[in-house]
Amino acid sequence: MHAEVVSIGDELTSGQRLDTNSQWLSERLGELGIRVLYHSTVGDDLEANVRVFREAFDRADFIVCTGGLGPTADDLTRQALAEATGRDLVQDDTALAHIQALFARRQRPMPDRNVCQALFPVGSNVIPNPHGTAPGVDISVAREGRTAARLFALPGVPAEMVEMWTETVGPALAAATGEVRVIRHRRIKCFGVGESDLEQMLPDLIQRGRQPSVGITVSQATITLRITASGRNHDECLAAIEPTAKTIYDCLGSVVFGEEDDELQQAVIRQLRSRGETVAVVEWGTGGLVADWLSVASGSDGPFRGGLVIGDRDALVALPSVTAPAAGIVAWDFDVASWAEACRHQFATDYAIAVGPFPVADGDGQEPGMLPLAVAWKGGTKMATPAFAGHPDILKARSGKQALNLLRLHLTPD
Ligand code: ATP
Repeated sequence: MHAEVVSIGDELTSGQRLDTNSQWLSERLGELGIRVLYHSTVGDDLEANVRVFREAFDRADFIVCTGGLGPTADDLTRQALAEATGRDLVQDDTALAHIQALFARRQRPMPDRNVCQALFPVGSNVIPNPHGTAPGVDISVAREGRTAARLFALPGVPAEMVEMWTETVGPALAAATGEVRVIRHRRIKCFGVGESDLEQMLPDLIQRGRQPSVGITVSQATITLRITASGRNHDECLAAIEPTAKTIYDCLGSVVFGEEDDELQQAVIRQLRSRGETVAVVEWGTGGLVADWLSVASGSDGPFRGGLVIGDRDALVALPSVTAPAAGIVAWDFDVASWAEACRHQFATDYAIAVGPFPVADGDGQEPGMLPLAVAWKGGTKMATPAFAGHPDILKARSGKQALNLLRLHLTPD
């Protein structure tokens, strides 16, 4: 059993309004164990609406659509449903009485146009809209050799949609699917390898049709593995997810740094907190980003003690024991390990992270260069020079994460 969510309106297709109804409905359908395979968004055009409905009836068992149920000429959902199903529109007297009563309560005359909101395709059911004038439509369409497709049309106004889902559509779908099934996810966060390398480290996990399924997404160099299971209840889903999560941890080792909404800075702060240790940072290329992340994750009184932002060579005097690099030395040859060590002394911390300047490519086709990073602790330093390449929009965040990851791995037992 799978579903399609259809959103209707020029406001949506023109980009003036974000389609939040689809997101909300997809989450609710998922909670009922109904997988959403399609989202369609269509403007206020009768022919296009009819086509979308016909396709949806063919490819989805359940369809939930929002919008186009108002009284104005551009509200076409009822008409499009009638055409797509080959049925006439007939008036529902109870629905009309409800609309008239709403206007009477607001002490306004009901415009003639609103009568159309009481029209329904023959054989459909009315979905009550307690606080709005647009009742919804519940319509089933027979399909040869298959179970009927069932569509629920709701108003676009989010508050009305939510109320009608909660009171009518959700319970109807739960009953239609027989047993109540739920879908649960667990997200495992990884850093330090590329997406395809990570996929190769997880044999057979990221395969279509696998149960539980494992999806992979990347955002600013952080890779998220999302395990999804469906079951009769929350605990059954979590139990089904557990062996897959264990396989991921076993295969990826220290590439995994956390779960759900964790970011690298939270992982690092957790490590430091559990050891009762502190950190400071000196950064050039990332311009304070790492300090910002650490200070938010650390909170007041946490393991993060402070940071220095370096803007040019002269500013390195802020680290008294550091000699400024001679002119002409490329960024990745800067001795950032000595910066980290000086910063550690300056802030009297157990660790310090240093981020060097971003390398500048000399011109087209030139090697992009490397980013000098270092971490210092009592008794040692470690440097890394990852390649500085990728889309400019993510380079800063990725560099900050690479710096944090250097400390995280140093603190992770082998
Ligand atoms: P109405 O009775 O208000 O005319 P309707 O069913 O015709 O209801 P629309 O006119 O399509 O609904 O939308 C009404 C309002 O609801 C829109 O102006 C917009 O603010 C909001 N809306 C519609 N669709 C969506 C959507 N997919 N996501 C978020 N908001 C939406």
